[in-house]
Amino acid sequence: MPNDILIVGAGPSGLTAAIELYRRGYRPRIIDQLPEPSPYSRALAINPRTLKILGPCGAREALVRRGNKIRTARLFGPEGELVKIDLGQLPAPYDFMLILPQTETEEVLAETLQDYGGTIERGTTLKSLHQIGGRSQVVLTLPDGSDQHVSPDVVIGADGAHSPTRHMIGQSFKGSAYENEWGLADVEVETDLPLDGISVFDRAPVLFALFPLGGKRVRLMSDQADILEHVPEMLRIAEVHWHSTFKISHRLVDSYQSGSVFLVGDAAHIHSPFGGRGMNMGIEDAAWLAWQISTGRTDEYTEDRRPVAHQVIESVDPSTRLMASERFWAKFVRRTLIPLYARSHRFQDRFLPVISASDTPFPPWLSVEGIGSGDHTEMETLPRTARHG
Ligand SMILES: Cc1cc2nc3c(=O)[nH]c(=O)nc-3n(C[C@H](O)[C@H](O)[C@H](O)COP(=O)(O)OP(=O)(O)OC[C@H]3O[C@@H](n4cnc5c(N)ncnc54)[C@H](O)[C@@H]3O)c2cc1C
Repeated sequence: MPNDILIVGAGPSGLTAAIELYRRGYRPRIIDQLPEPSPYSRALAINPRTLKILGPCGAREALVRRGNKIRTARLFGPEGELVKIDLGQLPAPYDFMLILPQTETEEVLAETLQDYGGTIERGTTLKSLHQIGGRSQVVLTLPDGSDQHVSPDVVIGADGAHSPTRHMIGQSFKGSAYENEWGLADVEVETDLPLDGISVFDRAPVLFALFPLGGKRVRLMSDQADILEHVPEMLRIAEVHWHSTFKISHRLVDSYQSGSVFLVGDAAHIHSPFGGRGMNMGIEDAAWLAWQISTGRTDEYTEDRRPVAHQVIESVDPSTRLMASERFWAKFVRRTLIPLYARSHRFQDRFLPVISASDTPFPPWLSVEGIGSGDHTEMETLPRTARHG
């Protein structure tokens, strides 16, 4: 069993890896190049699967206390509401999507890590990594600028989309990028629209989405970089807290493992934020890897986790293109077929598992630890590792 574990990156994936390893009796080292946590929030949606995963370590209660529970999603066309989806149909007790800015999710995870006795070594950067004779030779740059040479048993690269770890182990990141820049803004709005759910506005050629953050504060997202120029009439902006742009790519590594180095989260896969799966999947990768380290099954990590990211990319990429397309057929699908289909049971049966992530294999350790109550429908999709164990 490895004793000396280095986690590179203290985003949601790295923090979860550290917590889940501490929970299992390890004392990993976790570093981040940033002297302070990033003040900018990207992810907002925490799905039911993540809440189940973060139950045993004790983070779930704080997340649920601080987040906004959302049970409705609406799609608006040019003439008004096209369809209202009842997320309350998700199986209890997690019959909601939790909306919480990523900065706060990271705060809760860092506090949970601290409760286990873990500390993030901030201002510490992975400078180089070589594997010699199956062992990692790592150079870190410490906050005072000096170099430290270490040779951990296991390195976990949780260092995000531009992952230096991924580059250093020579993994290519195959995929494609959307050409345009997207916009996001956190604002206060005045509106008659109920701020109790996610709203998507199909205003082709503009796609616009609203996520309620509590009170009058909302996150706006659009396929237009100058997002504030495209706000639907029913929203009046009272105050802008911050706005930014981002680009969307869909990319996936061939292998999540190279010797004793493992990739988790955005270091291994990135895709469109529509569907809210990126951070959630990274948290699940990290928890899965911690379980596999503790059970000596790390050779199955890529086999268990890569198909999940592949499946998500295969569904999120076409959905994002469909939602953002100006083509006649795409508008017809959005404005006529989706509203019709959304009223059927078949839609609920297919859509709810996707947004709750129960369409992917159930974490085996949760059922073993007896935490999967109410999750029996998910048990049918146990992965190979769990079936064998
Ligand atoms: C606009 C937008 C909206 C999104 N919405 C959602 C959503 O609603 N739900 C969802 O699930 N996902 C969403 N995502 C995706 C989500 O933000 C990412 O998937 C998530 O941040 C990935 O977490 P991570 O820990 O893998 O990487 P990161 O959060 O990128 O963390 C990586 C960390 O590694 C550190 N690091 C990098 N290099 C080094 C080095 N050399 N040495 C030491 N440390 C290093 C960085 O400082 C950073 O702290 C969204 C993304 C965007 C852009």
